[in-house]
Amino acid sequence: MSTIDHLLAAVPTRLWIDGEATDPADGGSFSVVDPATGAVVAEVANASGKDAIRALDAACRAQRDWAATPPRQRSVILRRAWELVIERTEDLALLMTVEMGKTLTESVGEVAYGAEFLRWFSEEAVRIGGRYTEAPAGNGRILVTKEPVGPCLAITPWNFPLAMGTRKIGAALAAGCTMIVKPAEDTPLTMLLLAEIFAEAGLPAGVLSVLPTADAAAVTEPLIADPRLRKVTFTGSTRVGKLLIEQSARQVQRTSMELGGNAPFIVFDDADLEAAVAGAMAAKMRNGGEACTAANRFLVHNAVREEFTAALTARIGALRVGPGYEADTDLGPLINERQRASVAGLVADAVAGGARVRTGGHAVAGPGFFFEPTVLDEIPADARILREEIFGPVAAITGFDTEDEAVAAANSTEYGLAAYFYTRDLDRALRVADALESGMVGVNRGVISDPAAPFGGVKQSGLGSEGGTEGIEEYLVTKYIALTN
Ligand code: NAD
Repeated sequence: MSTIDHLLAAVPTRLWIDGEATDPADGGSFSVVDPATGAVVAEVANASGKDAIRALDAACRAQRDWAATPPRQRSVILRRAWELVIERTEDLALLMTVEMGKTLTESVGEVAYGAEFLRWFSEEAVRIGGRYTEAPAGNGRILVTKEPVGPCLAITPWNFPLAMGTRKIGAALAAGCTMIVKPAEDTPLTMLLLAEIFAEAGLPAGVLSVLPTADAAAVTEPLIADPRLRKVTFTGSTRVGKLLIEQSARQVQRTSMELGGNAPFIVFDDADLEAAVAGAMAAKMRNGGEACTAANRFLVHNAVREEFTAALTARIGALRVGPGYEADTDLGPLINERQRASVAGLVADAVAGGARVRTGGHAVAGPGFFFEPTVLDEIPADARILREEIFGPVAAITGFDTEDEAVAAANSTEYGLAAYFYTRDLDRALRVADALESGMVGVNRGVISDPAAPFGGVKQSGLGSEGGTEGIEEYLVTKYIALTN
């Protein structure tokens, strides 16, 4: 039996409700596929609306005690979960590679990154503050306290199967909230294993439930319609985010939305080009390009455009494509055929309009959902690839002549999640960072995610922040207590 078969034989595949693995009320299962081969690797229990309400019942029963659990105790459980996730790095990393496709190196990186949210929020749990002042009129005292929002629903995407869960779960649990997680249908296994790890860390029953399903709306709609649910936190597409905002309006639930992006990556003519190419590789190729923070449009000053493009093409063209669990792989498959067809469609549209293919440009034949690492330049201004999120290993390069032109192009999108630029001029760095309409800006660096920093977008990229000292606030409500003198 291979290491992968051993792991899959031991991995949990049932729903996790009220502190135990359980079968779905309506029975049934759905398949999880290895995107490197297209083969089914697991059958996972398929939750329905009935299971969702069972999980909410459990969350509501657990809510009061969990909120009353001393912050230090909540902190210790989160810290223990962090330790256990790190101890299980090998299993979690391999599992993510098998169900999602990224390379093992990337998966090991995600375990460290995802676990860090648990350690970070274990530290935040004991620092929930309040405020006490004298009323200006002198007739009373103003006491401001923070309370947990209450039971939360988290809906997570497939691109970071662990980290997109832990950054919501860590913050919610630290704040004293209970949480039901609906993981992406492509990658439910990692979150089910995490639920077991949390139980081992001492998390009381009902505080965390995990409901995999092939029919997301069947699980999420009854939850969002239920007035006992107090918050919806989502990472995924802007289209689904808008639907969830509409649905949550009916019960006036709090929402946090991490949605799509269309990140510009600007290279000014005074940039350190070697550093810019290294940063571009990270910003574009991290996670195979399947990241909402991925550089989507490279805007390169015309004086350095050919030099930058040639260097990036050499690096991207040299990437070795293959299954993520094979040692010499640099780039794994895309998540599924739908995503591959979407990437191929964007490339075909750009090429039909006159874009030049510097390397790659095609789907890879054979089993699995591979796409060649690709660089395009001479892209027509109306190409879809400049407006839509690529979510794949394709770098789209256009040129500019002035700083104003670059900033205007960068901002000409309804998205505003991440933006990157390279310059050696400090005045320009501060000016451009201010001018970019983006929730996050990377200056002379291609990777910006950090559990200690607030992650979030503006415009149609979302609402709220995850991580940082801001992250826990999303799970707290403010109460004002008026005291007389
Ligand atoms: P998606 O929005 O379709 O799916 C994300 C999650 O939402 C999954 O768990 C899915 O099951 C669930 N979902 C889908 N339809 C739903 C509905 N009607 N009601 C409730 N839940 C629903 O996104 P995707 O197909 O997984 O990814 C495609 C796009 O998502 C990407 O192109 C990108 O724009 C975006 N994305 C963004 C991020 C981010 O961090 N901001 C991460 C991953 C994906």
